[in-house]
Amino acid sequence: MQRSYFLKTLAALPLGALAMDLKDFTQKISSEKYSERMPAIFIGHGNPMNALYDNTFTQTLSKIGTSYEKPKAVLVISAHWLTKGTFVADSPNPETIHDFGGFPDALFQVQYNALGAPEIAEEIVKNIPAIQLDHEWGLDHGAWTVLKHIYPKADIPVFQMSIDYSQPESYHLELAKQLDFLRTKGVLVMGSGNIVHNLRLLNWQNPESTFDWAKEFDEKVKSHLIDGNYNELTNYRTWGKYAQLSVPSNDHYLPMMYVLGVSKPKEELKFLFEGFEMGSISQRCFAFA
Ligand code: ZN
Repeated sequence: MQRSYFLKTLAALPLGALAMDLKDFTQKISSEKYSERMPAIFIGHGNPMNALYDNTFTQTLSKIGTSYEKPKAVLVISAHWLTKGTFVADSPNPETIHDFGGFPDALFQVQYNALGAPEIAEEIVKNIPAIQLDHEWGLDHGAWTVLKHIYPKADIPVFQMSIDYSQPESYHLELAKQLDFLRTKGVLVMGSGNIVHNLRLLNWQNPESTFDWAKEFDEKVKSHLIDGNYNELTNYRTWGKYAQLSVPSNDHYLPMMYVLGVSKPKEELKFLFEGFEMGSISQRCFAFA
């Protein structure tokens, strides 16, 4: 990312015109009514090849798209966009980013041609000073490999927000609370990561089995989710060895903080999918609605 280029471009914008556009937009977005709050969903995305697979996980994703009112846009917070500072992408036509190596050509051929949502990105920046605009990021595989099943027609605008990797879990939980307003304006907030994510300990010998420590951690997170103990979920480092093995680095854990942050205590929590890939990747998915 070329931040200096981006900042110069931002500084050169005619601010009067921008302010007028935002005012018009604010009036427009305020006048649009949605019958309910859009859900906030956490997806355990796992293997990028799921974009091409038909299995119980991808069938669950397909059902998500038809289970809720069609959103005006989807905001994705993915494990695969980590930055210093927090950025929200305002590209009107986000590119499909193939941010991996060693996979078959067919996966590199996949394009997810949804529009972006630059007006909503601007609304976020206007409301939350800690978040800045980014003009370059498109959709990384944490977004498009799952959206390909959830909204296969790519007919819902999608945009991403980055994760400030220099900040602790509690920071992300608090920042997310400020994004709650989006849910009443037709925006579905989606975190895409994995509760358990240890690529070094993938079980190649017995990919169908699950490590005990992985199962224990996944279940512990589930029980804290049910009890609403979100602060405890920011303290997983104190839980012991099974937590260290399950979250050796927190890039895939942090997207969950955004889903928790935009949820409300009385909302229904629904577990959409439970399962593991190769013993050490939890694909648990859940929704607040
Ligand atoms: Zn990932």
